[in-house]
Amino acid sequence: MNASTDIGTQTTMALGEDFPELREAVRRLCLGFPTTYWRTLEKTDSYPTEFIKALTNAGFLSALIPEQYGGSGLPLRAAAIILEEINASGCVASQGHAQMYIMGTLLRHGSEAQKQYYLPKIASGELRLQAFGVTEPTSGSDTTSLKTRAVRSGDHYEVSGQKVWTSRALHSDLMLLLARTTPLSEVKKKTDGLSVFLIDIKNNLGKGLDIRPIDAMINHGATEVFFDKLRIPAESLIGQEGKGFRYILDGMNAERILVGTEAVGDGRFCLERAVAYAKERSVFGRTIGKNQGIQFPLARCHVDLQMADMMCRRAAALFEAGVECGADANIAKLVASEAAFKAADTAMQTLGGFSYATEYDIERKWRETRLYQIAPISTNMILSFIGQHVLGLERSF
Ligand SMILES: Cc1cc2nc3c(=O)[nH]c(=O)nc-3n(C[C@H](O)[C@H](O)[C@H](O)COP(=O)(O)OP(=O)(O)OC[C@H]3O[C@@H](n4cnc5c(N)ncnc54)[C@H](O)[C@@H]3O)c2cc1C
Repeated sequence: MNASTDIGTQTTMALGEDFPELREAVRRLCLGFPTTYWRTLEKTDSYPTEFIKALTNAGFLSALIPEQYGGSGLPLRAAAIILEEINASGCVASQGHAQMYIMGTLLRHGSEAQKQYYLPKIASGELRLQAFGVTEPTSGSDTTSLKTRAVRSGDHYEVSGQKVWTSRALHSDLMLLLARTTPLSEVKKKTDGLSVFLIDIKNNLGKGLDIRPIDAMINHGATEVFFDKLRIPAESLIGQEGKGFRYILDGMNAERILVGTEAVGDGRFCLERAVAYAKERSVFGRTIGKNQGIQFPLARCHVDLQMADMMCRRAAALFEAGVECGADANIAKLVASEAAFKAADTAMQTLGGFSYATEYDIERKWRETRLYQIAPISTNMILSFIGQHVLGLERSF
C-alpha cells in the first residue's frame, strides 16, 4: 500500500470560515442574483450572462491567474471558496467555474508568448475560455481511445471528429481541445500521441466547426461539437505535440478540489433550506423537525458535509504545499459529490410535496447536485484510481 501523501509534509489548513472577507464579498454579489433569476433562466434555457459578467468584473473568475498576467493570483483554496459560496447562495457556480481552471493548462504548459497574449484577456473576461473538449460519444471515460484527429500539414493542423457534453461551448470564445495527433497503432503507450489545442470557437463557427446544444436535465449549456476538416494554425498547439494527456491530467487535481468544494456549497444550501422548513412546517400539531425521522437524516447530512468540507480543505492544503495530492483530490470530490446529493435528496423528503414546487429551488438543486457523481469524472473512475494507486490492487481495465 502506498504511504499517505502528507506524512512529514508541513501543511496548514484553516478551520471555520477561512477567507471571511472573500466569502462575504461573494455572498454580497450573489444577493443580486436571487433564485428567481436562476428559475427564469431555466425556463428560457438561457445562459447567466449578467451573473458571469458580474463575477468577472469583481475579479472572482481570474482568482487563479497570476498577478503578472492580470489575475489576482489567489491560492486554490480561495478559488474553491468562491465557488462554494456561489452555490451556498443558491446560484450556480458550474456556469462559470471552468473560466477559472481551464486556463491552468495554458499557464503550466503554454509558451510565454501564448500566456502573454491570452491570460490577460481571459482575466479581464475579454476572452472566455470555458469550453473543454475531452469526452467523445464512442470513447466516454476511456479517454485515450478518443477518435478526434488533428493532422499537421505545414503551418496548420486539420481537425476532424466529434466531442459530446462540451459544456458552455456556445458561451465561450475559446476551447481547450484534446485530440489525437499520432494514431493509436503507432504509439508505444496509449497515453502518448494525444495533444492539446487552444481553438478559436467564434471565428471558426460554420467553417469546419459546428456546435449543437443538447437538451439536458439541467441548464448547463451542454453541447455536441463537430469538427469537419477544421483548419487551425500550428501555434494553437499547447506545449509539445503528443504530450497532451499528461497536460490534462496535471490539471485534474485542481479541478477535483474546486468541484468538490463547489458541491459542498450546494449541500449547505439544501441543508439550510431543509432545516428552516423543518422548523416552520407544522403537521399533527408539531413541527416536523421534532420528529427523529426528519431530524436525524438532516443531522446526518450535516455530518457528511463536514467530512466532505474537511477533505476538500485537506486536499487543497496538500495542493498548495506542492505535494502529490491525487488520492486526496479524488477522495474530496467523491465524498463531496455524495454529501451534496444526499443533502438535496434529504431536503426533497423534508419539504415533502412542496419540494416539487420550483419556487423552493430544491428540485433544481436536486437535479444539479446529481451531476457531481457523473461529471467531471464518474465515481467508478475515482474508485478505480484509489483501488489501483492507493491500495495497489490490480488494474481492472
Ligand atoms: C452535464 C454534463 C456536462 C459535462 N461537461 C463536460 C465538458 O465540459 N467536457 C467534457 O469533456 N466532458 C463533459 N462531460 C462528460 C463527462 O465527463 C462524462 O459524461 C463522464 O466522464 C462519463 O463518461 P460517459 O458519460 O461517456 O460514461 P461511460 O464512460 O460510458 O461510462 C458509463 C458508466 O459506466 C462506468 N464505467 C465505465 N467503464 C468502467 C469500468 N471499467 N469500471 C467501472 N465502471 C465503469 C462509468 O463510471 C459510468 O458510471 C459532461 C457530462 C455531463 C452529463
